[in-house]
Amino acid sequence: MTLDRFASPTIAIDGPAAAGKGTLARRLAAHLRFAYLDTGLLYRAVGKKVLAAGVDLSDEAAIQAASSLVVADLDDPALRLDAVAQVASRVAAVPAVRTALLHFQHAFAAAPPGNAGGAVLDGRDIGTVVCPDATLKLFITASLPERAARRLKELRERGSEAIDSRVLRDMQERDARDLSRSVAPLVPAADAVVIDTSGLDPDAVFAAAMRAWQARVSEG
Ligand code: C5P
Repeated sequence: MTLDRFASPTIAIDGPAAAGKGTLARRLAAHLRFAYLDTGLLYRAVGKKVLAAGVDLSDEAAIQAASSLVVADLDDPALRLDAVAQVASRVAAVPAVRTALLHFQHAFAAAPPGNAGGAVLDGRDIGTVVCPDATLKLFITASLPERAARRLKELRERGSEAIDSRVLRDMQERDARDLSRSVAPLVPAADAVVIDTSGLDPDAVFAAAMRAWQARVSEG
């Protein structure tokens, strides 16, 4: 199989929070000159809109926020807050919210912005639901203690007074919601290459992903 056979090659990256998806996705996109979409930002933006509206978190409020989402909503540093991540994982369990966000993700993968030669999307359901025909599917995971430790470090570097046990509990809660929801739960696609990043540095993860990419494009 050669790259020419793909109208627009796509790399789908899924996995739980703080497993290293974002770091890897950005690096792959820069290396291959592909466009990158962090799909978690879409759910975070919907959650933030509901919070900002000051209304109760209902399915209706989440659907309304998802339907009125514009690209500029994604450009907000506050989307990185853990409080927003928690709400994001709640709105993400509402089927109509996921449907409303599908179009944006499909359009990005089909016509990557900036005339990029392909797209890298990361999230929870990219290989299973959003881009089931992706050129390469990666499932990036790591142990819960390692992911919680990484998130704690990241929060502290940003100047936040994060508490160890709280970060671990929030991550456990979010994992549980993402794994158990009835629509598009977090699960590796059958044909995903699984990379456990526990104990690996970003260079080693990137090298493993590039090996998987090279193998995929030179198949056949
Ligand atoms: O990836 P990130 O941590 O920013 O995602 C925030 C939340 O958005 C996740 O916990 C998950 O509930 C939801 N999400 C999702 N599907 C995606 C991306 C994110 O359900 N493709």
